[in-house]
Amino acid sequence: MGFLTAAERVIALAMAEVMAPPPPPDITRWCEENIVFDERSPMPGPFSITRFPFLREIHEVLSPEHPCREVTIRGSAQWGKTVSIIQPTVAAWHEYTPLDSLVVHPTQSAATEWVRNKWLPMRRQAPGLRRIFGDGRGTGDNKDAKFNQETVARNGSLKVASAGSPADLTGTSRRLVVMDDLSKWEMTDKGDPETLANSRASGFEDAKILRVSTPMIKGTCRITRAFDRSDRRFYHVPCPHCGAMAPLTWENFRKNIDPERLDAAHFTCDSCGAVITHADKEAMVRAGRWVVSNPGGDHPGFHLWRAYAPQRDWASIAVEYAQVMGWTGMTARQATDDEIRHTVEAETEQTFWNDVLGLPFEQATKGPDWEALRDRVENAEPGTVLDRGVVPACGVLLTAGVDCQNDRTEVTILALGSNHRRWVVDHIVVPHHIGDEEGRVALNALLKATWRTELGQRLPLDMMAVDEGAFTEDVRSWAKAHPWTRVILIKGSSSASGPVMRPQQDRKANGGTIKKQRRSWMLNVSQMKADFYGWMDKADPIERGFCAFAKGLGDEYFRQITAEVRVLKRATSGVMVSRWELAEPGRRNECLDAMLYAEAAGRKLGWTVMTEAQWEVLAAERGIAPQEGQADLFDSKPSLGAQATTREPASPVSLQAQTNKPALRGRERGRVS
Ligand SMILES: [Zn+2]
Repeated sequence: MGFLTAAERVIALAMAEVMAPPPPPDITRWCEENIVFDERSPMPGPFSITRFPFLREIHEVLSPEHPCREVTIRGSAQWGKTVSIIQPTVAAWHEYTPLDSLVVHPTQSAATEWVRNKWLPMRRQAPGLRRIFGDGRGTGDNKDAKFNQETVARNGSLKVASAGSPADLTGTSRRLVVMDDLSKWEMTDKGDPETLANSRASGFEDAKILRVSTPMIKGTCRITRAFDRSDRRFYHVPCPHCGAMAPLTWENFRKNIDPERLDAAHFTCDSCGAVITHADKEAMVRAGRWVVSNPGGDHPGFHLWRAYAPQRDWASIAVEYAQVMGWTGMTARQATDDEIRHTVEAETEQTFWNDVLGLPFEQATKGPDWEALRDRVENAEPGTVLDRGVVPACGVLLTAGVDCQNDRTEVTILALGSNHRRWVVDHIVVPHHIGDEEGRVALNALLKATWRTELGQRLPLDMMAVDEGAFTEDVRSWAKAHPWTRVILIKGSSSASGPVMRPQQDRKANGGTIKKQRRSWMLNVSQMKADFYGWMDKADPIERGFCAFAKGLGDEYFRQITAEVRVLKRATSGVMVSRWELAEPGRRNECLDAMLYAEAAGRKLGWTVMTEAQWEVLAAERGIAPQEGQADLFDSKPSLGAQATTREPASPVSLQAQTNKPALRGRERGRVS
């Protein structure tokens, strides 16, 4: 430089500035320069790594300059995986180098929601993203602008795809591939979407493949499979008393939850035994570090759960645990009326494990042995099991689940009480199809009928849920005559992910969705079966989830209610998939299906979200003897229920003998006119 003239020197310096490589990519710095949490966030204001110290190492391995090819992040829900990891990674890569990237979500609607509610708002807000992609205004309904976003400099693109559309996962090569919510990805007819997405990056030596998800079911969980082959990093924090480093674990926390004092839930130090409270959390997390637990793993893998998240306190974990365990007398928040009306996304034990603990949930894979279950009911101490047709004398909801077959309609009458308990009151076989006049008349009669409680009150059905999967038109045409507040229609979903119950959505001709149905619901029958089979083992009548059965339901009932098993299979790609199958060929399962539909009707009424106080109100109304003068309208002998019921459920053999008998003949006596 010393030989250059002043003018040459100025030019050379300017050139050097233009030619200088951009600063090394730093995703943490990108977050601090670009992310501002808005007022609705639990922590509004600019992103600060001091609040999220565990993100720094994750950001480092995700940098284009870090040599690892794969990164796995398994964790609970809502600690910033999308906003503080996925989006900044995509942004920092595009800022650093021209490239094509791919972000894949489990379904088209999840992809749309991400673009609309997460990505486009950040494109408008973050200066770094506006520079690369523009502010996204004017994309409106332009599908291509939403799902294939080109950079302003036309040197790269971001493609957003659904794992359910294999066609979206073929074609161009992508140097950065992000698999979001991986556990919810399902096998398609065209193969395994994870393999397809993976192969998009196969042409690049320096590609990066990021897997992010809450886990799902033990044995088939995709994110856990990836995490298991990773180096499994856990975040160790120092004990505030003795300085010993250890990860925060659920086992430790669980031991320190007192049902009477959920707010005081805490950890204890395994080294010195001292109590570690939520007030210690922030300083501990700031002084923490990631520790590899599987040095032989083939890529960096991180596990993080709510105990570390700055957005939520430890008490919230204890409160949600108390809710799923059904602990009474707790100080948990009360369900609102609105939640009870929309009970369908209530917490289950599985969602607690997945979304709060970030751990895969071990589902039941089969029910109890049918003969043992039958014997438990038929040989029970006198007075502990009700006769068929009799409703227990406590606050209950009374529902019916209806399974429609070609030549008959099977109906389970179910009483549902607090703490997820249930009593099978009866199972009735109407020997007619729901499309036939006789079948419709019989179902109408059930909606007018009442059932006697142990104390002699009469209760009508609060709600009936009818399977519309096989005979949709017949079922809908019958249901029209009844309000949706009393009769709902059910379809079983083939997907094992998603909420237990969600409204069906009708499609417009152009593929868009119109307003959610109030009558028709989709059920996650896979999870419902697993929960039911888990609960059926419980022997203590006051235990959460206890299932009681009326005396005299017959062998075939118990054979059917336990008819299915969950079978694990390895797909050719190596992914484990599971399916519910009949335990033996030829076994029937209508009683099991009708049970799930009756439960769905109960969930719709608030079974899983009603508070103790609300159950007490119901008990005050229903769990008492009838008002004076009412009782003598009815036969008060306890045997009435048994007389009023009809017959055993159909087995392939007994059905023949039943078809010519009139429906519900025995019930006539039990009906209120
Ligand atoms: Zn200690």
